[in-house]
Amino acid sequence: MALLQVENLRAYYRTEMYGVSRQVRAVDDVTITLEPNEIYGVAGESSCGKTTLIKVLSGTIKPPLRVEGGSVKYNFKYGDVDMSTVTEEELRKNIRWKEISYVMQGSMSVLNPVRRVIKTFEDIIATHEGIKDRALFRERIEDHVKKLGLPPDVLNSYPHELSGGMKQRVAIALATVFKPSLIIADEPTTALDVVVQRGVLQLLKEIQSVSQNTVLLVTHDMAVHANVANKVGIMYAGRLAEEGPTELIFKRPEHPYTQHLINSLPVIGDKTGKSSLEGTPPNLANPPEGCRFHPRCPKALPICRSEVPAMKDFGGGHRAACHLLQGGRQ
Ligand code: SF4
Repeated sequence: MALLQVENLRAYYRTEMYGVSRQVRAVDDVTITLEPNEIYGVAGESSCGKTTLIKVLSGTIKPPLRVEGGSVKYNFKYGDVDMSTVTEEELRKNIRWKEISYVMQGSMSVLNPVRRVIKTFEDIIATHEGIKDRALFRERIEDHVKKLGLPPDVLNSYPHELSGGMKQRVAIALATVFKPSLIIADEPTTALDVVVQRGVLQLLKEIQSVSQNTVLLVTHDMAVHANVANKVGIMYAGRLAEEGPTELIFKRPEHPYTQHLINSLPVIGDKTGKSSLEGTPPNLANPPEGCRFHPRCPKALPICRSEVPAMKDFGGGHRAACHLLQGGRQ
């Protein structure tokens, strides 16, 4: 059974200024499924809807963001949860940290700058489970960080004493302390240098394979997806353009936007300049009719300006939304 089913999700920002209402269609008709024990990568440029998708999936929806349609349903260890009816209390008591945890870029918002790292663990565990035996608690946390390959003295450090990579490892240790079903990792390696990035991604991969939970890895960096994700969903302007097993996405990208993202990846020794795409992603307050990629698409047809392309299925979980495609494998 799937861990998460998102069907036809529409999440918009609605604002009103001087009597004029405005809606930003940040996530528009997105359907994805996350299975247990997989790393699902979400890719796309900024303003493609990745951050809004995370907000909805983690139940952090605050005005002006509203879910306008569709459904988000989880099958957690302790039972099924429909995010359209879940209460804030249930999210706080049973879901955040315990079933869904979050690792974000920079990680500073989870680490209290004026408290030692062990105190942040203490705060989180005390809030969700209570701490009855301090010696046992200390043993549990030391054992947890040791399993993740972190030096135990990291627990006595203040965040400013740690490198960026170590802070991110601590954030991952915090996010996994309750063994959640889903870890949402939002640009977890952006702002880290390449060597440190590799270590952080390796840690995420190891945790996933040992705990057999699901990781939703959100990053614009296609090279990260190629190395880490089992499956990739490519978003463009609030819609899912293509989705499939990582190998198929990289070997046989079907959607022109995915082809562009993959063709722009640097190749060692290749000195020919990479092709760039004209223009920028559209303003989602006033997105183009039809295929939202049409103003930038080098292969656009007249129909692309008026009709939204349907998803075509290529088998094996690979699908893409483009008028050029027939579905099936040629
Ligand atoms: Fe390009 Fe048309 Fe396909 Fe959109 S539907 S990606 S505009 S060819």
